[in-house]
Amino acid sequence: EGHVTISNLEKVYESGGERTKAIEDLSLEVPSGEFLSVVGPSGCGKSTLLYLIAGFLEETSGTISVDDQPISGPGTDRGVVFQDYALFPWRTVMGNVEYGLEQQDVGKSERRDTAQKFIDMMDLDGFEDKYPKELSGGMKQRVALARTLAYDPKILLMDEPFGALDQPLRESLQDHLLDIWRDLEKTVIFITHDVEEAVYLSERVMIMTRHPGTKKTTVEIDVDRT
Ligand code: ADP
Ligand code: ADP
Repeated sequence: EGHVTISNLEKVYESGGERTKAIEDLSLEVPSGEFLSVVGPSGCGKSTLLYLIAGFLEETSGTISVDDQPISGPGTDRGVVFQDYALFPWRTVMGNVEYGLEQQDVGKSERRDTAQKFIDMMDLDGFEDKYPKELSGGMKQRVALARTLAYDPKILLMDEPFGALDQPLRESLQDHLLDIWRDLEKTVIFITHDVEEAVYLSERVMIMTRHPGTKKTTVEIDVDRT
C-alpha cells in the first residue's frame, strides 16, 4: 500500500498569457514504504510535483496513480505537511490533531484516543489545550505531523517541512521522522533544497533541475539503518 506511479507527467501554468512549463515528461515509481527525497534549486518544480501528487493541482498531461488507481483530487490516502505548518489558529493542539478524524466522521471518544496517541508520539503531551500561537516552530511542526498522521495516510508528502527551523531542531525532527517512518511503514516523498538532509533521510534521492527537458535523475542511497 502507498505505491506511487507517475507516467509522462507534464504541468504547464498559464497566467496572463504566459506559459511556464514546471514539469516536463516526468516518470517515477515510488514503491510502497520507500523514503524518497526530491532535491533541486528554487523554481525547478518540486512543489508543483508534490501538489500534483497531493491532488491540489491538475496535471496538464500524464498520470499519477496510487496503488494502480489514478488519483482524482485530494484523498485521505495522501497526507501533506507544509513548511509553514498551516495549523488552524483557532483550534487547540488537540483540535488540530482531531481535525482529519472529524472529517471522516470518527466518533468523539475514538477521535480523542487516536489524537492522543499521535500527540504522545510527537512528545506533545501536556500541550493538548495550547493554541498554535503559544508554541515554538518545532512544536508547531510536530502538531502538523501529528495532525496528518492521525488520519493514517499511506503516503506522506512533505514540502520542506523543516526549512524554517534552526539546525539542532531540524536534526531532532529528522530523527523523529525516521523513527515514525520505520514504525508506521509509510511511503514518504520529502522535498528539500538541502542535499545533506536528503541523503541523511532517504533511500533514494531524485534530482530536478530548472531546465525543462533535462532528464530526471535518481540516485540510490545505500542506507544501513539496522
Ligand atoms: P520549486 O518548488 O522547486 O521552487 P515550483 O514548483 O514552485 O518550484 O515552481 C516551478 C515553476 O513554476 C517556477 O518557474 C515557478 O515560477 C512556476 N510556478 C509555480 N507556481 C505557479 C503558478 N501558480 N502560476 C504560474 N507559474 C507558477
Ligand atoms: P468548527 O469546529 O467551529 O466547525 P472548523 O475548525 O471545522 O470549525 O472550521 C470550519 C471551516 O470554517 C474551516 O475550514 C475554516 O475555513 C472556517 N473557519 C472556522 N473558524 C475560522 C476562523 N477563526 N478564521 C477563519 N476561518 C475559520
